[in-house]
Amino acid sequence: MPLKKQTDERKKAAAALAEARREQERREKSYRERALKIYPWVCARCGREFSGKKLRELTVHHRDHNHDNNPPDGSNWELLCIYCHENEHSRDLEADWYDGPTAGEGQETFSTHRPFAELEKLLKGGK
Ligand SMILES: [Zn+2]
Ligand SMILES: [Zn+2]
Repeated sequence: MPLKKQTDERKKAAAALAEARREQERREKSYRERALKIYPWVCARCGREFSGKKLRELTVHHRDHNHDNNPPDGSNWELLCIYCHENEHSRDLEADWYDGPTAGEGQETFSTHRPFAELEKLLKGGK
């Protein structure tokens, strides 16, 4: 049955994928734990301190951006909070939204401006 074979292969692929994910998770967990043992629980960029539940927001950054490079002395790791970590990775990219107007401000202008009234005027007034 070709159909059965296909499902088997798909199942195998899914299992392999799941295994790869588990493996990666295991690896990430282990280097994170090691990094947390070596370094103080402080963001290397903004200096925020973390403990308890908040510790989840402290992540391990790889200085050379190679997640497979995990020397036991931790020299390739840096503890960064999720915000600084994101910043670190988007530093060279367009990051305008950080300084842009907040969504709230945009909303207010929109509602007081009454765009539909304006539109109506345009339609009625004509050329
Ligand atoms: Zn930070
Ligand atoms: Zn990173």
